[in-house]
Amino acid sequence: MSQVFINGSLVPKEAATVSVYDHGLLYGDGVFEGIRVYAGKVFLLEDHIERLFESAAAIRLDIERDAGMSRTAMAAAVNETVSANEIQDGYVRLVITRGAGYLGLDPQRTSNPQTIIIADNIELYPQEIYDNGMHLVTATTIRNHPGALSPRIKSLNYLNNILAKIEGVDAGSPEALMLNHKGEVAECTGDNIFIVRNGEIRTPSTDAGILEGITRNTVICLAKKAGFPMTECGLVRHDIYVADECFLTGSAAEIVPVVSLDGRTVGNGRPGPVTRELWDLFQQLKGH
Ligand code: PMP
Repeated sequence: MSQVFINGSLVPKEAATVSVYDHGLLYGDGVFEGIRVYAGKVFLLEDHIERLFESAAAIRLDIERDAGMSRTAMAAAVNETVSANEIQDGYVRLVITRGAGYLGLDPQRTSNPQTIIIADNIELYPQEIYDNGMHLVTATTIRNHPGALSPRIKSLNYLNNILAKIEGVDAGSPEALMLNHKGEVAECTGDNIFIVRNGEIRTPSTDAGILEGITRNTVICLAKKAGFPMTECGLVRHDIYVADECFLTGSAAEIVPVVSLDGRTVGNGRPGPVTRELWDLFQQLKGH
């Protein structure tokens, strides 16, 4: 039976509950991570723990002080949850809530932030999309303005992304491209975006108002190591329309080829060779 880590111990899934007064539920006040497990080993765990603690610090939640978990204890708890559920290839959802409080916003009047770790299986996109590429659409919902709620914070408030996702699904696509407040390409609802043009790889920089994806950073490193010119720069939709290749990255999605945007074919309409090469390199990395 599935075991969930909550409040310092592993309990059966049905017993893993939080208070209805928890501000994670009432206000989306909390942070989270989505992590992969390959061959029983948690992939890039330290990077995810680091980003979790950074997201928490950005919302003025001190995990060590307020939730009583150090980075080391957090990593151990993730590994323990994965082992207890005998996950070989799967997915971990790590959630920190602000804790239960009163019916008002003030986080100072909450207590007991909850650390929740769920280890399960995930299949995000159908195989057909990996084989033939995704048809992507641009959402009218723009990415959160970084001055309002920084997309670099992986917070429990995902409504911005969900509203864009609904637009994608309505248009028959499982993802949607989100632009920033300046009309530049930011990212997708749960994935970062890259293009390839004339052998050069480009992706929006964090200044575009995006989540600094761990898969994104990994792919940037792999691309540089493989000798590709790799730049983080401002992109507009025109750059995608005229690109040779386009692909998305994310922990759950890994690397997904994109073959059209808003009904316009990207490149020759097939997953491209650079995307395939990076995919192969990424598969090799997973084995280590
Ligand atoms: N952007 C957003 C908005 C995300 O939620 C995610 C994670 N699902 C990503 C990008 C990809 O980040 P990562 O590679 O760290 O999973």
